Amino acid sequence: MKAAVIHGPGKITCDNVPDPTIKDPRDIIVRVTATAICGSDLHIYSGGIPQPRPMVMGHEFMGIVEETGNAVTNLKKDDRVVVPFPIACGHCFFCNNHMPTNCEHSNPKYGPEGGLLNEKGGALFGYTDLYGGYDGGQAQFVRVPYGDFGPRLVPENLTDDQVLFLTDIFPTGYTGIDWGNVRGGETVAIFGAGPVGIMAAKSAWLRGAEQVIIVDTLQYRLDKARLAANTEGILWDGSTHKDKNVIEQIRAATNGRGADLCVEAVGFEPERNILEKAKSIINMEIGSPKVLEACMSAVRRGGFVSVLGVYPTTYDNFPIGQFFDKGITMRGGQAPAHEHIDLLLDYVQEGKVRLDDVITHRLPLSKISDAYSMFHKKEDNCVKVVLDPWAA
Ligand code: NAD
Ligand code: ZN
Ligand code: ZN
Repeated sequence: MKAAVIHGPGKITCDNVPDPTIKDPRDIIVRVTATAICGSDLHIYSGGIPQPRPMVMGHEFMGIVEETGNAVTNLKKDDRVVVPFPIACGHCFFCNNHMPTNCEHSNPKYGPEGGLLNEKGGALFGYTDLYGGYDGGQAQFVRVPYGDFGPRLVPENLTDDQVLFLTDIFPTGYTGIDWGNVRGGETVAIFGAGPVGIMAAKSAWLRGAEQVIIVDTLQYRLDKARLAANTEGILWDGSTHKDKNVIEQIRAATNGRGADLCVEAVGFEPERNILEKAKSIINMEIGSPKVLEACMSAVRRGGFVSVLGVYPTTYDNFPIGQFFDKGITMRGGQAPAHEHIDLLLDYVQEGKVRLDDVITHRLPLSKISDAYSMFHKKEDNCVKVVLDPWAA
């Protein structure tokens, strides 16, 4: 079959690889009909999260069940499914306690310490050996472990475009709002107007927010967020550190207090100036927490900060004093997509939300190398790329 294989930083090619096979009675094989590139994939593509051997990428995919293991009784061949991006067993302590991304069975590199580049929580599809070493879904076929727990049946009247983002970015955006305890009437400030930030904005409205402000270093991303999620935009000149002007604008929009919730949807590889890059090298840090620091300043006292952007290791000078003095509640992590996917599928089905308006590019899987490069360099006003594994 054809699959997107990473061969080191900046090198992803469409290769011929062996078809996946059932390895466990709970596995299913899915024939992928649509798959997308996530901002998380860019962290591997940049080398920020290392992957030492070639592996099939991709954790946003859906398709048709091709084969089921003997233990899978809730799905059959030809069923159409979307698959949440975390791989979770459904039975361990964490799966039983609504924390599927901390599953203690799915990842051979699972460990209680975490936060380092040698152990993590539960596995993810196509997301490095550290996250389980499973081949991903930017491919014609994919093996889905615990096929009786993750995949959800999709109603026939909905197109792939309408439901594909239930795999990751919509539940992820929703998680940021849910962690921030949004119940109605709040001001939500979202840092990062990428696909995740835009989905967080859509979710904020669904949960009754009164005001949704989005911050990005790129005007075209702010324009897209305004069109797709009706947000107010603030442009951050990425060369400045923890931009005062951005924080002041957010305070000015909230009677000087700051946002009730700040959502960090950028991650550890933001736009940085030379000084910031030098500091990372001196501190032996990968990337920078500058956007997270801005969230801590832009949030009101007693407010919430949701960290959806990925942070793989430790950072010096984390503003623990501000966290304590302001009484901030901070939550982060890989989003528990399984927890929200059924509710969010209902919202799509009921027409309460539209997801496909973030798509800007459609390419055949054979063009994977161009697709990653364009999304990474933010060229051609690219926001979200959807790939067809079967197109010539
Ligand atoms: P993306 O790269 O398309 O979007 C990131 C956005 O941040 C871009 O629009 C970029 O211009 C902007 N940005 C860069 N520097 C900035 C700054 N200083 N201030 C404001 N904006 C800035 O990626 P995405 O798909 O939207 O993903 C965003 C983050 O969410 C990534 O770190 C990704 O790994 C993470 N993610 C996490 C989960 C989870 O489960 N927690 C799931 C999906 C994605
Ligand atoms: Zn993702
Ligand atoms: Zn589990």
